[in-house]
Amino acid sequence: MSASAVPPPSRATVCVTGASGFIAAHVVRELLERGYRVRGSVRGNPSERRHQVLAALPGARERLSLHTADLLDEHVWHTLLKGCDAVIHAASPFRLDASDPKRELIDPAIMGTRHVLGAALRAGVARVVFTSSLAAISDEPVPGKGFTEEDWNERSSATRNPYYASKAAAERAAWALEAQADGDLHLVSINPALVLGPSLGPSLNPSVAVVRDLLRGVSPALLDLNWLVADVRDVALAHVAAMELSEARGRYLCAGESLSMVRMAALLRELDLAQGYRLPRLRLTGAIGTAIARAVASRLPAGTRSYLLTHLGRALQADGSRVTRELGVAYRDVRVTLRDTVADLERWGHLQRVV
Ligand code: NAP
Repeated sequence: MSASAVPPPSRATVCVTGASGFIAAHVVRELLERGYRVRGSVRGNPSERRHQVLAALPGARERLSLHTADLLDEHVWHTLLKGCDAVIHAASPFRLDASDPKRELIDPAIMGTRHVLGAALRAGVARVVFTSSLAAISDEPVPGKGFTEEDWNERSSATRNPYYASKAAAERAAWALEAQADGDLHLVSINPALVLGPSLGPSLNPSVAVVRDLLRGVSPALLDLNWLVADVRDVALAHVAAMELSEARGRYLCAGESLSMVRMAALLRELDLAQGYRLPRLRLTGAIGTAIARAVASRLPAGTRSYLLTHLGRALQADGSRVTRELGVAYRDVRVTLRDTVADLERWGHLQRVV
């Protein structure tokens, strides 16, 4: 067994940070299903309802423990990681609308990465899977360019796509630590695009809110916006495969089908998921439509404004095939993802039919 190989599930303990988050909860579910012991970090009291959904997962009673830990608290992580064979570091603030992006997004993302990975190194945890993002690869779509794992987002900042800046800076901090560790830290990053699919808890994730807002008619017209979509269950599988396969190396861009807002709306109708909602029919696309949308966007709050102004009218292309080739994760049909996303939004009361 190589120094960075994780023991078989019956003998391995894995720490998952931000365990009750949208993606991390699926990682925890997958790990428990495979027979791992899991230590999950959560913010606040583990007995809160949003964390307790984890306790109901099969295997949780025997093999899951939840621990309070904040990314900003340097000291808690060493104790939590001691005796762990791997850590999946998914915790990071995720929002577009921060009023103080440096304090709310960028600093905690970087500090959290340094604290968790630094503690992993000191505790001898040889395998670290870091949840990064397509946002660490690209700040905005570039016509004619297909992004790959070779690309780095060098444009985002505290005033331009600050959430993107937080992900790029945190991932850079992770690779800097890996370089300093001189072979003692086996780091792999998973870089998902827009993650959709069913959640395991009551919180509404900003990525899933894209589908909710579309069905609610938050934008009265369909805009020329485009997303690369990854199903949360596939993203979780990619994390676990990256942890288990000792040959996994570097970055894995996790992006399946490309969907425009117009195409997403058409699919929602085709799948009979739009019935009773305010899904718009009007299109604000093409050169004139996008110019109008940009004028409206320039009056919106900073985070949303910056995202819209850098993404309207252009489709980002990226190659997510390495995840399938090397980690063995096939992207599921986006129709299945959309159907399960809507059912889940309804289940947790985030969507109510209006007519
Ligand atoms: P999420 O549900 O908001 O999960 C983020 C987790 O991080 C939550 O558990 C949150 O805890 C925790 N967290 C935030 N700040 C923290 C702090 N200071 N100390 C401790 N924990 C903290 O969102 P998600 O989509 O699952 O995101 C998980 C990871 O995937 C993030 O790194 C995100 O950047 C990345 N990602 C997400 C997407 C997507 O489309 N969803 C795409 C690419 C990458 P609280 O619940 O207490 O806030």
